[in-house]
Amino acid sequence: MVEGAERQSWGDATREALQRKGLRNGGARRTVIDLLAEQDCCLTAQEIFDRLRESGRRVGIASVYRVLELLSSEGLVQRIDLGSGISRYEPIHSGGDHHHHLVCNTCGRVEAFEDPRLERALVGVEAASGYLVAGHDVVLHGACADCR
Ligand SMILES: [Zn+2]
Ligand SMILES: [Zn+2]
Repeated sequence: MVEGAERQSWGDATREALQRKGLRNGGARRTVIDLLAEQDCCLTAQEIFDRLRESGRRVGIASVYRVLELLSSEGLVQRIDLGSGISRYEPIHSGGDHHHHLVCNTCGRVEAFEDPRLERALVGVEAASGYLVAGHDVVLHGACADCR
């Protein structure tokens, strides 16, 4: 659930986190962060590159990868592998808001889902395991409604 008002946006939180580290938010970094801040699901580096080009923002693919590496290493973006061998990238929200993914093995469609019961079940697994769990990925693979 989103409690909106006083919660800082991912884009603002990310720019501030980099500034605290003494990293400037110019050029490619600013452009990629702005684009990611508008997304509600994960994108590949190629998709990010294509969308930037479509909107007339010229950032090289190597720069896109560099920014994504930085954001991943700073814990601001999650790298997700949905089984295609191509990494996808998704903003990490500080409040813990997140979703999981359904992947169509036929057409490659990726959809997001959220399920509070699943989250509660995973908390239960953590408690029973004795592990201090830092995060989790859940990916359901199969055929989407159009391909099944
Ligand atoms: Zn997603
Ligand atoms: Zn979850």
